[in-house]
Amino acid sequence: MTAAPEDIIAKLNEIKTSLPAQVTLVAVSKTHPNEAIEAAYGEGQRVFGENKVQELVDKAAALPKDIEWHLIGHLQTNKVKYIASFVHLIHAVDSEKLLKEINKRAAQENRVINVLLQMHIAEESSKFGFDESEMMALLDSGRIADFENISVAGLMGMATFTDDENQVRKEFTSLKNTFDLLKADHFKDGAFNTLSMGMSGDYKLAIEEGSTMIRVGSSIFGVREYS
Ligand SMILES: *Cc1c(COP(=O)(O)O)cnc(C)c1O
Repeated sequence: MTAAPEDIIAKLNEIKTSLPAQVTLVAVSKTHPNEAIEAAYGEGQRVFGENKVQELVDKAAALPKDIEWHLIGHLQTNKVKYIASFVHLIHAVDSEKLLKEINKRAAQENRVINVLLQMHIAEESSKFGFDESEMMALLDSGRIADFENISVAGLMGMATFTDDENQVRKEFTSLKNTFDLLKADHFKDGAFNTLSMGMSGDYKLAIEEGSTMIRVGSSIFGVREYS
């Protein structure tokens, strides 16, 4: 159930005051009503994340225009067109085909869209993302530079869903290492500066391992219900 507005405000402020200055909080509002977002907005929160295109489009239309909307979930190529005019950051870009479509739609909108490349770091095979060799092949091809209406802002990853802290930490360390390597070898301009890792259950670990952007939902808004 969505938490009461006063609880959302208390949780949000508790998390915000605990964060190091270099870490951006994405408040993940998926499945929660606009009133919940408005409660956080009233406290100054401007960065919100959604994982479904339709829900993102509906909320963006109804809520204040200075919100920075992040799409954090898997994005299908045929849905890029619905968010291209306003999305601030797309977190889970995991194929060249998707990059190509985002670039095309961004060009039509006369804008540059910020994206994060999603790396597959979890043990589960179900999680999306590039593996190391796919990523290297894409970078070595030099084709990313052809996407003039895309700015690659960094990497994103999701750790294995497990209580094993060592496992989660290992995966975050590995993503941070890849981030540093790509920054040094392939993205020397300052735009590549975001490492999106960490959710309600593991964001503290993620920050210890170098995260600069955490995506926190249930710890702020309450447990999600899917109808
Ligand atoms: C839902 C979601 C989150 C937030 O999860 P919580 O555990 O509720 O904090 C973060 N990242 C992605 C990609 C998600 O889909």
